[in-house]
Amino acid sequence: MAGAGRDHLAVLLDFDGTLAEIADRPDDVRLDPRLRALLERLGHTPRVLVGIISGRALDDIRRHVGLEHILYAGNHGLELAGPGWTLAHDAAVEARGLVAACCDRLSLRLRDVRGVLVENKGLSASVHFRLVPRKSVTTLRRIVLEELERVPPGRLVAREGKMVLEILPAVDWDKGRAARRLLEHALGDGWEARCSVVYVGDDSTDEDAFVALAENGITIRVAPYPQPTAARYQVRNVEEVGRLLEAIAGWMTDPT
Ligand SMILES: [Mg+2]
Repeated sequence: MAGAGRDHLAVLLDFDGTLAEIADRPDDVRLDPRLRALLERLGHTPRVLVGIISGRALDDIRRHVGLEHILYAGNHGLELAGPGWTLAHDAAVEARGLVAACCDRLSLRLRDVRGVLVENKGLSASVHFRLVPRKSVTTLRRIVLEELERVPPGRLVAREGKMVLEILPAVDWDKGRAARRLLEHALGDGWEARCSVVYVGDDSTDEDAFVALAENGITIRVAPYPQPTAARYQVRNVEEVGRLLEAIAGWMTDPT
């Protein structure tokens, strides 16, 4: 995997559906302590970088993972952080008020839709509909699109995820760019020549990272059955991601 001179390994992972099983409510998702211990061990291994790249807000993803010394990208990469530093996308910060206003209006208009959860994540928002009766989902989608049309043109966009509609600032940014920026910040210019990357994710937003990192290492989609993806490999579930991390930790920390 590693080319000549690539003596660093970056292990970048999405969180929900990749490192932790998806739950009905985002707050109920828990990272298995065994996986946390593996990430911690990898994060303390010389020349290994661990990064979590999530749609959750930065504070939220940090709280769920609970490790201090690794890299994080929150809000689909609009916020980046490492030990002692944070960065936020300027244009996304400017759109924060629009996101908040949109959340307020959606909370009001969707208050009678059973099971809906409107989450203001600061730089983006999520409208979760995992618990919404199927017959109400069309109405919910219509209301979200109507509210986006009330925002000044070209400022916010909607993106479909797993049982969630993401409302994002319309900036030219995604998990792929975020992953590359994270590695550039951590390793400096020319990181591509020194670092191989393993990227693992389960959702449509991870496809951008599979494309952006295609030349840098190994990309893996988590999905229970084969499906079209830009990732080079596929694993079936969180348990298999755990086995992959165990294998990587074994290679990188075994002196033989
Ligand atoms: Mg995911």
